[in-house]
Amino acid sequence: MKGKPVSEDHLPPSAFRSPPPNTARIPTDFGFERSSSRLPIASVQTVNKELVALISKHKRGFFLVAALQFVTVASALVIPRTFGNLLGQLGKNPQKANISLTVTIVATALVVQTIFSYWTKVKASVLGEFVLSSLRERFLERVVELPPNVVERAGSGELLSRTTTDIDHITWAVRDAFPIITISLVEIASIFIAIAFTAPIFIAVVMIGAPVIFAVTRRYLRKSPQAYRVESSSYALMNSVLVESAESGRTIDALRLGEDRIERSDSALGRWIEWERYTLRLRTAWFPFVEMSYIFPLGVVLLVGAYFYNLGTMTIAQITASLLYAQMAIDPLEGMLWWIDELQGGKASLSRLLGIHEIQEREIRISEPDGFEVRGEEIRYGYKKDRDVLNGISFIIEPGTRVAIVGPSGAGKSTLGKLLAGIQPPRSGTVTVGGSEVGYLPVEQTRGHVALVTQEHHIFVGTLRENISLANADATDEEIWEALVAVDAHLWARELVAGLETPVGIGGTRLLPPQAQQVALARLVLADPHTLILDEATSLLDQRSARHLEASLNSVLEGRTVIAIAHRLQSAHDADIIAVIEDGKISEWGSHAALMKADGPYATLWKSWRDES
Ligand code: ATP
Repeated sequence: MKGKPVSEDHLPPSAFRSPPPNTARIPTDFGFERSSSRLPIASVQTVNKELVALISKHKRGFFLVAALQFVTVASALVIPRTFGNLLGQLGKNPQKANISLTVTIVATALVVQTIFSYWTKVKASVLGEFVLSSLRERFLERVVELPPNVVERAGSGELLSRTTTDIDHITWAVRDAFPIITISLVEIASIFIAIAFTAPIFIAVVMIGAPVIFAVTRRYLRKSPQAYRVESSSYALMNSVLVESAESGRTIDALRLGEDRIERSDSALGRWIEWERYTLRLRTAWFPFVEMSYIFPLGVVLLVGAYFYNLGTMTIAQITASLLYAQMAIDPLEGMLWWIDELQGGKASLSRLLGIHEIQEREIRISEPDGFEVRGEEIRYGYKKDRDVLNGISFIIEPGTRVAIVGPSGAGKSTLGKLLAGIQPPRSGTVTVGGSEVGYLPVEQTRGHVALVTQEHHIFVGTLRENISLANADATDEEIWEALVAVDAHLWARELVAGLETPVGIGGTRLLPPQAQQVALARLVLADPHTLILDEATSLLDQRSARHLEASLNSVLEGRTVIAIAHRLQSAHDADIIAVIEDGKISEWGSHAALMKADGPYATLWKSWRDES
């Protein structure tokens, strides 16, 4: 292409792609696309439908931009015609040529063109932002609703890449490609109309390059959408591998997995580069032909013009105007083709963004829990199709009971905790609270009945108050302080410079991990559910603080059902019922005294824990 229709600092992401390789291996099938993405990718038809829907939703905006551009181009088209007429007059009778009229017309046309061109660009940018914001909002609404197990399976890298890189690509496409293509189309159409009015024969001449442009562009567009999609997927995979490696640096070090991670990163990077090269080759096979196809007609216009001029059937004015028109068509044509290419990347990203909407919705079964009894019947659940982690668990927990779940690592305790909290329903069997299947209740309703606190906690950017009142937006200061007292956090909270209004999280006061865990528990106290599931919720506190906190929590938890996954057996000792889970099954169920008497797995665990501590 002759030049980029954008300035350097405004280049689209693909402008920074690597140079053409000599030995790029062209992939012959796109099977990789399916295997590399862990979330669905929307089909070409869905993407096209979405584009049509977007255009029709914003049709007024598009129409306005097109109308404004039409005026811009019409004023620009006056200039070649005026110059053509002037040349004609100079050829016939130089004394009669009206130069000052020509200057006035050209100056007026330039002023109109400048004003309307500015106006068009402003309106086009505003339109782009509207389109973008409706896309973004829909995407975010969907992302926060995604079932947690889907997000867990997909990995944070995949989702991160869709929310960042893909949105960036779409931003480029929507903000620039869409308006520029619309503007260019109007411009080209107007120029053709002007040529038709000046000398219709030149329409055929200018169209001489069209079959070549059509053929190479068609070939390019046949292959490129899928190639861009695979390229985006391979980029996301590489991103996932790198993010996972960065996030789990300590584990990688501890298990000496460095070599393996480097190999995985190299392989993911290699695949991405391979696809990057492939799309680059597609582009390099397309651009030169396109370039030739619109330079060539200019020469032909001159030749044909000269021929007809000699025959006396065409004037200098017609030839000059047509030549200038043909020249004027190059820029919009070039810009349009450049941005069609960019649009391919944008479409690939859009298909990944829309793919999020194809994830199966969480099944909702409306029902109102009647009572507080928690019951499990023949619960089976597995993360993989062929291996269940929970192998038929049944129990009844009366309201107000304190249950401690203990067992060896990997036995399925946390998995059971997630099912009890309704994060996902079991594969078979039922988990009910007050007779309603908790995994199928609407999320807001579930949170009113059952809440889960795990050892993973998060402090959001905001004030301490905002972080705690997440669980209950209407909580008063008094209630928040009561919650802080209940979790032993009032002492350090009172020392914060601005008390509840102190900014915490990134950019604010950094809370220590045990403090963050207390904040998570304070949220739970405010949420006020009748059943609480604590999965190692005090694991980050030292043993003494944890015991103190548990004692403080006792008064708040009075009367509620508490199911605690216990790694410190002292908590189990204080519970009404202890459930021992082994290999995804309940192997023992009873009070501390009863289980000690039975001298089974719990008694063994207790003795070894007591000896260690
Ligand atoms: P721990 O005390 O070590 O936390 P646990 O008893 O809580 O162990 P779970 O975390 O429920 O055990 O895990 C039970 C099994 O399920 C383990 O084999 C674990 O590797 C597997 N598992 C847990 N979470 C996932 C997941 N998100 N994807 C795949 N497998 C998982």
